[in-house]
Amino acid sequence: MSEDVASQAIDLVAQQSQGRMGVQFFGGEPLLEYDLLVYCVEYAQNRARQAGLACVFRATTNGSLLTDEACRFFRDIGLVLTISSEGLPQRQDACRRFADGRPSSAVVEAAVQRALAHNVRVKAYMVLDPCHLENFVESVAYLRRCGVRMFSLGLNIFVRWTEAQIRQVEQTIEGLGRLYLQSILADQPLGIDVLDDKLFAWAVGGYPGGQTCPSCRWLLSVTPDGRLFRGRAFTSDCRGCSDSVGDVWQGLRISLDGHALKSGEPLSPRCKSCGLAPYCMYWCRCANTYTSGNPDVPGEVLCRYQAAVIRTAERVSHRITGELAQQPQADE
Ligand code: SF4
Repeated sequence: MSEDVASQAIDLVAQQSQGRMGVQFFGGEPLLEYDLLVYCVEYAQNRARQAGLACVFRATTNGSLLTDEACRFFRDIGLVLTISSEGLPQRQDACRRFADGRPSSAVVEAAVQRALAHNVRVKAYMVLDPCHLENFVESVAYLRRCGVRMFSLGLNIFVRWTEAQIRQVEQTIEGLGRLYLQSILADQPLGIDVLDDKLFAWAVGGYPGGQTCPSCRWLLSVTPDGRLFRGRAFTSDCRGCSDSVGDVWQGLRISLDGHALKSGEPLSPRCKSCGLAPYCMYWCRCANTYTSGNPDVPGEVLCRYQAAVIRTAERVSHRITGELAQQPQADE
């Protein structure tokens, strides 16, 4: 990406934002373009200052090029650094090798330790994939022992899942729920974004109507040639959200707020009669399209994943509420 495209994109974000704007570096390996990343941060900070906005930064990396200089810079600007990881060394080396075949676990673990030593806010990104579901919970526990406290979970929606693999996903989510609960009860809370999100949904009685998929509403992706896409998808084969919505020179062709997907009633008959619907993200049309072929119908893996996360969050919520009720009050 050229500095011109990056600057135009940041100008557009500043124009579209109120109170706060954010710039996220991802897609390929952003640290390959470290100088451009620094340019973007400085440009965005200036632009935000002029517009009276706060500005936040995120980056997603495989960690292989993370230097002490980059860590100091990320710490100073408060950037949240998401490191893609498979956790346990044997899992990492089985799933992610360098192009020349070398294992990557030692490099990634060193990157995690380097970032933590510099007080960078580190998050681990882990994907539930049918090819390697074994030891997933153990891998989260391993990264936690390495010092990581925040986790972002993804589900590979671009492949076919068998019934046995979907059941394994459900068991994995239950296992993560146990780990999550233990960490809270031990007063060393662990953040797992999907469980955090569902606990919040339980606390407020479900997602409000009229809500859109958060990625589609808040995230615009910019390709190196300056095209804009909703969320993180770049392909044009999704009938939901993934067609280009403009470019950095002409701006957006549509209003992001007009992309209402959860307009009250679910459209899928199965979701209409489902008691979990208020807490479910069945309205992400990209994910629906990839998993079922229909933007209004969540595919089986998506539905069972959502249901497993919602039920796990419910169990965690009940357990925490029960524990709190048993604790003596401060004035007792
Ligand atoms: S859990 Fe499944 S059936 Fe229920 S609302 Fe979500 S996607 Fe629809």
